[in-house]
Amino acid sequence: SAVFDLKHAEKEQVKEFLNSFDTVLSDCDGVLWIDNNAIPGSADTMNYFRKIGKRVFFVTNNSTKIRSDFALKAQQLGFIADENEILSTSYLVAHYLKSIGFKKKVYLIGSNGIGDELNAVGIKHVGVGPDHVKPDFKSLKPTDLDSEVGAVVVGFDEHVSYPKFMKAASYLASEDCLFVATNTDERFPKSSSIVVPGSGTLVRAVETCSERKALVLGKPHEYIRKYLESCGLNPARTLMIGDRCNTDIEFGVRCGFQTLLVLTGVTSTRDLEKIRKEQIAPLPDVVLPKLGDLLEIVKS
Ligand code: PLP
Ligand code: CA
Repeated sequence: SAVFDLKHAEKEQVKEFLNSFDTVLSDCDGVLWIDNNAIPGSADTMNYFRKIGKRVFFVTNNSTKIRSDFALKAQQLGFIADENEILSTSYLVAHYLKSIGFKKKVYLIGSNGIGDELNAVGIKHVGVGPDHVKPDFKSLKPTDLDSEVGAVVVGFDEHVSYPKFMKAASYLASEDCLFVATNTDERFPKSSSIVVPGSGTLVRAVETCSERKALVLGKPHEYIRKYLESCGLNPARTLMIGDRCNTDIEFGVRCGFQTLLVLTGVTSTRDLEKIRKEQIAPLPDVVLPKLGDLLEIVKS
């Protein structure tokens, strides 16, 4: 299937494209901003979608902040944004556990972003921050385990350690213990020669030592679609915008959304060529160098 290059489309084609969806889901890092810097034109375009009557959601695999902090960040960078429009994996973990009536305690390999979202729905958790068990495999004792734990949640955790893996796997040895993960991104977008391992690294480690598979809530998995369908979303009239083919575009394809790839984040023009040739990830319906180009074409 061919990828439609919107940059070289006629204005009429762009208008037709804009009329083909009612809801816009946008990835955050790599599409709207990179770290703390807005990508020029993205805020105006997202605000324009809203102005012409589209429903807008911010869909991020990032689990390190609570929804209101993501909303604040978006607002500070020029986006109109409401906390209820933020679908971060931190929120999804709390929403999921609450929706199934989970009453026990969470063992959390993750950050305060997830911890605070759990607090907000009244779910207790342990594990955030450095583990104080000595990092050798003889130090952990059965009495170090918390008998109230009924779920292990794995997200991004800079304090990950061997004792944490031992605890997670020990809890998961009980079949009744739930196993939930935020996302499986391999790495962070590269900004220098340093490779920053993403949550997927931790999830795979816990899956390996527990010999279990996590329920993954973030992109490309379909939990978000189920969540949005309960808010009245029509997949056929939904556009997913992303910067990564194996998370965002894969997510859009699995959910039956239209997909738009922008080249301001992880996937480069060269990667797109490789994906096209080697079929290692799904291709988007439409591609644009940057999200702001859309508004420029409309306004031209
Ligand atoms: N996870 C973490 C911890 C991050 O910091 C980021 C990006 O900054 C992501 C995931 C990816 O986020 P997104 O899905 O918005 O690209
Ligand atoms: Ca991204």
